[in-house]
Amino acid sequence: MLDLAQLRRLDSIACEKRKVFLRLDLNVPMRPDATIADDSRIRAALPTISLLQQSQAQLVVASHLGRPAAGEVAGYSLRPVADRLRELLGSRVHFVTDCVGPVRQKAMATLAPGEVLLLENTRFYAEESANEPQFAAALAEGMEVYINDAFATLHRQHASTAGMAGYFSHKAIGLLVGSELAALTPLLSSPHKPFTLILGGAKVSGKIELVRNLLSNIDRLLIGGGMAFTFLRAEGKAIGSSLVEAGKVRESEEILKEAARSGVEVYLPEDFCIRREGGEVEMVDTLGATDQGLDIGPKTTAAFVKAIAGSATLFWNGPLGVFEQAAFRGGTLAVAKEVVASKAHSVIGGGDTLAAFKQLNLLHKVQHASTGGGATLAFLAGKRLPGLQALL
Ligand code: ADP
Ligand code: MG
Repeated sequence: MLDLAQLRRLDSIACEKRKVFLRLDLNVPMRPDATIADDSRIRAALPTISLLQQSQAQLVVASHLGRPAAGEVAGYSLRPVADRLRELLGSRVHFVTDCVGPVRQKAMATLAPGEVLLLENTRFYAEESANEPQFAAALAEGMEVYINDAFATLHRQHASTAGMAGYFSHKAIGLLVGSELAALTPLLSSPHKPFTLILGGAKVSGKIELVRNLLSNIDRLLIGGGMAFTFLRAEGKAIGSSLVEAGKVRESEEILKEAARSGVEVYLPEDFCIRREGGEVEMVDTLGATDQGLDIGPKTTAAFVKAIAGSATLFWNGPLGVFEQAAFRGGTLAVAKEVVASKAHSVIGGGDTLAAFKQLNLLHKVQHASTGGGATLAFLAGKRLPGLQALL
């Protein structure tokens, strides 16, 4: 495990009037007309930017946006992000179409203290994802301090997220990464008990390592969503035509055994919400051959709510039903209400989980909504995050 105490923090590093390279996660969802659909990630970056502006740093900001294919640029430019950043900061934000080289150096030369220079999408360079040392060196050129506040990309070993850090002796995490680590670390080391882990979403794969790593810390494991059916099959229950990962049944069975050995109480769905052929929605205790479970039913919801009520620590990843459809949102809504009302240390994570909370109008009420997605799951799975390793 990474010794987080070794990480330098933004406030422990001198940035006054220095040339600071700031890696952010400005990977915002874009509409087809190249306008920003949701600027939450830009807003989450503002405290770190403002702090660096106050110290009169000359600030070069970089981020990726989406996953452009080689040579593809339409719809992937960060220019609209520069415009939004200018509005939100109410200060000068310059934009250059090159991440490295003379164009950037020229813009840098005229950058006043406290001003921001946003670079174009780092993924317009194949060298970024390949973590090419020459590209990493070019990103670092002329810069004095490296700050990584891109929590959601800490699990990527890319040039701007990890490789370039090697060229700096002054480097630190930003405020967002600091608050994420403060919220997530207690889940790994001595969490307040009882600790309840709530899992849902489409697939078991991608979550197995997380469950395994947390199993010795948790007291209750609540499984809903599509992934529950792989566990139910492992228990020999009828799952009808529900989503299942046949290749993960064995591993799910192992997890259930391990949970039993560790004294973890496991809650699996005992009733389901399905849609009949005619379109009508129905609650059933047993799934027929053609029935597809699309949400947890009322008995399961009640059991989940009860388990959460007595918890001191909560982590939730994955919606408990197909929340995109109003008819299958009930389980997620009831459980989400309980989570936001709880006094427990509670954290939610995952792109769709946050989207579900947002749709239910509960996102602003949750104690900590992790911005990480894959990075959050990797951290809780106990994996080394290259973005943090590079700062040590
Ligand atoms: P996150 O992005 O929060 O990590 P996932 O991507 O794992 O979450 O899962 C989200 C998806 O899981 C949603 O699109 C939702 O519709 C789907 N899902 C939830 N419950 C079911 C179910 N019973 N059957 C099929 N899909 C489901
Ligand atoms: Mg998802």
